[in-house]
Amino acid sequence: MLAVKGLKKTFGTNTVLKSIDMQVDKGKVIAILGPSGSGKTTLLRCLNALEIPDEGIVGFEDHQVDFSQEVKQQELIKLRRKSGMVFQSYNLFPHRTVLENVMEGPIQVQKRDKQTVRAEAIELLNKVGLKDKKDLYPYQLSGGQQQRVGIARALAIKPELMLFDEPTSALDPELIGEVLRVMRDLASEGWTMVVVTHEIKFAQEIADEVIFIDGGFIVEQGPPADVLTHPKEERTQRFLHRIL
Ligand code: ADP
Repeated sequence: MLAVKGLKKTFGTNTVLKSIDMQVDKGKVIAILGPSGSGKTTLLRCLNALEIPDEGIVGFEDHQVDFSQEVKQQELIKLRRKSGMVFQSYNLFPHRTVLENVMEGPIQVQKRDKQTVRAEAIELLNKVGLKDKKDLYPYQLSGGQQQRVGIARALAIKPELMLFDEPTSALDPELIGEVLRVMRDLASEGWTMVVVTHEIKFAQEIADEVIFIDGGFIVEQGPPADVLTHPKEERTQRFLHRIL
């Protein structure tokens, strides 16, 4: 579904991604692990052009964008619509209700019919267990509930790919489970997902493939049973040793 080739991203003099190649097959869950500052968020943001790579190709089956050349705005918009992003800090609109937050993308960006979008949004809120909260505002919800709204909102644009940027890292421990449960459901429904996470047990359970990045490169990748249980590379071993 997605193929990334030679992706490079520099901020000033800091080359965060040196050359990333990765592939995501339809229906698969990829977990991205790596030390803080290793470029995990930047990689995810490059996948849907929230960050513009300096070089490299981000290619969906029917839409390839080569960042080594000049890229038209229209191509970026098309790329952005391929994936739904779930942020660490939820990023909900504070002055809109839960339902309005979920309806925002399909109505404002995709210009879809309001009644249809409303019905779909309620269905999505039901899926994440928050239908009865639809008329509340984000500040009236717990962090876990806000993040579940964040997931419903990302799903509302009917993306091909779901991107999760450390979706549970801002949550109190007792609220993490409810968000992971929703993500587990999505994985078992066959959603294609790329998940940046420090939840090793969760990655072990749901990921088809684990990618460990450090120093701007993919250091190691493979099934969780290999990368997480029997890592070959010393850098992976050290990282896992630190966080487990
Ligand atoms: P991770 O998600 O692995 O913690 P990030 O992708 O957030 O890593 O950051 C990688 C590096 O890129 C860090 O050194 C960070 O300071 C830098 N960085 C990220 N975004 C920006 C930005 N918009 N401007 C400048 N530097 C940035």
